[in-house]
Amino acid sequence: MPEFGFNSVGSVLIEDGAASRLGEILKARFELENIMLVTDKCLVDLGLVEPVVKSLETAGIPVIVFDEVEADPSEATVKKAALKAKSFGVDGVIGFGGGSPMDVAKLVSVLVKGEQELSEMYGVDQVRVCKVPLIQIPTTAGTGSEVTSVSIITTGENTKMGVVSSRIMADLAVLDATLTCGLPAHITAATGIDAMVHAIEAYTTAIKKNPMSDALAKEALQLLGGNIVEACKNGNNVDARRAMLTGAMMAGVSFANAPVGAVHALAYPLGGQFHIPHGLSNSLVLPHVLKFNTPKADHLYAELADVVGLAGVTNMQKTIEFIKWLDDIAEAVGIERRLRDVRIPESAIEGLAEDAMKQTRLLVNNPREVTLSDARAIYEAAW
Ligand SMILES: [Zn+2]
Repeated sequence: MPEFGFNSVGSVLIEDGAASRLGEILKARFELENIMLVTDKCLVDLGLVEPVVKSLETAGIPVIVFDEVEADPSEATVKKAALKAKSFGVDGVIGFGGGSPMDVAKLVSVLVKGEQELSEMYGVDQVRVCKVPLIQIPTTAGTGSEVTSVSIITTGENTKMGVVSSRIMADLAVLDATLTCGLPAHITAATGIDAMVHAIEAYTTAIKKNPMSDALAKEALQLLGGNIVEACKNGNNVDARRAMLTGAMMAGVSFANAPVGAVHALAYPLGGQFHIPHGLSNSLVLPHVLKFNTPKADHLYAELADVVGLAGVTNMQKTIEFIKWLDDIAEAVGIERRLRDVRIPESAIEGLAEDAMKQTRLLVNNPREVTLSDARAIYEAAW
């Protein structure tokens, strides 16, 4: 039984349709006079933002919408949003969308008072100011960003930096499954598999494994694994959507306290060099990293195989079944399976492996040490 710390959001609300009665919900919990909603244009165009704004206005909470968040949000976007929030005297921030708007909202909530520069916040525990109330509303079931204390920002051409601080943890996460019903199947699949990877890697993490994150990871994997195929095939099944959102949130809490490893480390270069979406990148390397980890982690994969009800007697048999179960899910949801399917040339493998080795922050969490030649071999197997 290890000693450990555990951080999570203050409050979670799982309610279909909650976003369109957000004004009422916030009024009962916070003193707000002027709030900013951080989102992207696509969600505005889809009509998802309007009911939220209407509900806030009806409750007497004036709202300013900042809808300029792009994928892999830049430092300039964060600064622009914060400046706008400051000039309107905003005293609360809502992140509404996928990981990008939520990550920007986290930073606006601590930048709005103008007491500390963004450049001083990068790294772990560098935020010195208190945030204004922060409410996160995910519109995809995947990143878990609504419950994590990390914000990733693009600072240069291809460089990213992270702000990691319990001070950017939301006060309230609102999970409204109706917001996710319109998501296309391929996005549901990729984000859902990303969430499953969060649960798996949190459960097998080398450094901060603890009983609370383990319990969350196991339940998350059951919810996600049991509903991902249905959510992809039948997007309007709100029960499946609610289970996915809940599972992704629980996996988020889990990996916020028991960090992810080599699947993410090897996935990031696919995003950085070839702009493969995060969830798909994870899915492409997942079975190959698990096979690589088996000599050190088969007892843990066997436990996860038990959780999702797979057969097998020995740890090795159960691990093989577990990897096959994940492969079957990838096939059922129709996601690309090989690096060549997403037009990554074999000649790129060396550069990808070198890049993956730079992800030391993640690699230290992996149950088995990964060398450059291991990374190369994993990419070759995935190609
Ligand atoms: Zn992820």
